[in-house]
Amino acid sequence: MKSFVNISFVHKSYIVLLSFVLLTACGKKPVVVDRPAFCADSAYVYIEKQMAFGPRVPNGASHMQCAVWLIEQLRAFGAEVELQKGMMPDYRGNNQQIYNIIGHFYTPQTASRPRILLGAHYDTRPWCDEEANYADRFYNVPGANDGASGVGVLLEVARQLGLRMADSSFRTPVDIVFFDCEDMGTPAFYTGQEREDTWCLGSQLWATNYAQQIADTPSPVANYQYGIVLDMVGAPNAVFPKELFSMQYAQNYQEQIWRSAAKLGYGSLFSTTRSYHITDDHYYVNEIAGIPCVDVIHYDMRSSGFPNWWHTRNDDISNISKATLQAVGEVVMYQL
Ligand SMILES: [Zn+2]
Repeated sequence: MKSFVNISFVHKSYIVLLSFVLLTACGKKPVVVDRPAFCADSAYVYIEKQMAFGPRVPNGASHMQCAVWLIEQLRAFGAEVELQKGMMPDYRGNNQQIYNIIGHFYTPQTASRPRILLGAHYDTRPWCDEEANYADRFYNVPGANDGASGVGVLLEVARQLGLRMADSSFRTPVDIVFFDCEDMGTPAFYTGQEREDTWCLGSQLWATNYAQQIADTPSPVANYQYGIVLDMVGAPNAVFPKELFSMQYAQNYQEQIWRSAAKLGYGSLFSTTRSYHITDDHYYVNEIAGIPCVDVIHYDMRSSGFPNWWHTRNDDISNISKATLQAVGEVVMYQL
């Protein structure tokens, strides 16, 4: 999204056909490696459901309805759910209400082990400021990929964690965080001062609270191994090169995730090329909370960078592929 002077900062701003056939029906996947259970059909339905609310623009009814539904879903899958509220300044300096939704997944046996943090933003951008026509820039982004895809994958992960808790195969405690207000950064058409920290408001709030907990108590309640953020993870031609803040703060985990992707047969999707420093929720988890955190984000080094539907009215369900959701979901489940 954004290029700066020295380092290229890119806020979110493909092309890989999987080399073997992925069966879309759940539970009938070819056994090549020890493939974790994940159902793309289910992730897809969770994306459709979010889209049905309409754009999830903060301060609007659709956003609130979606938030309530996310809380209900996490609870239904067995999470202990926390709603984190707070205020952060928006690009005009006005107070913006934040609602982060956190699902804690643990069992009595695993409660004290270090957790894995999984995050995705559920808000959608108020403006299509990458549209060519000026008048189109004032529509809300539908947010099939930029918002719903990461959340859809993590809801299916949540469902799978619930199944593991039921059959006693649950191993690693996980916190799933649906960050709010990621995509409210300064609109391109704004004539005032542009500030980079107007992106990712929800993760800034979450990370600041966590850092405060550590300062207040010698051993904070939650102790994290590392985190993974998913953003724009559903396009048919997606490609996820290695993002550079992730490499800077969490290189070992980034390598671990990309290695497991290769093992699962998704090496062309999880490309070993490097992208740029991209301002996304993982940046604040790394920088403020001090938790190593890796971003999985669509960025095509061979063409336009961020996909051509990014921050436009075309970020709709036609740009969602079950094969991509399956790949990303399996790679995440493989870590848990
Ligand atoms: Zn965005």
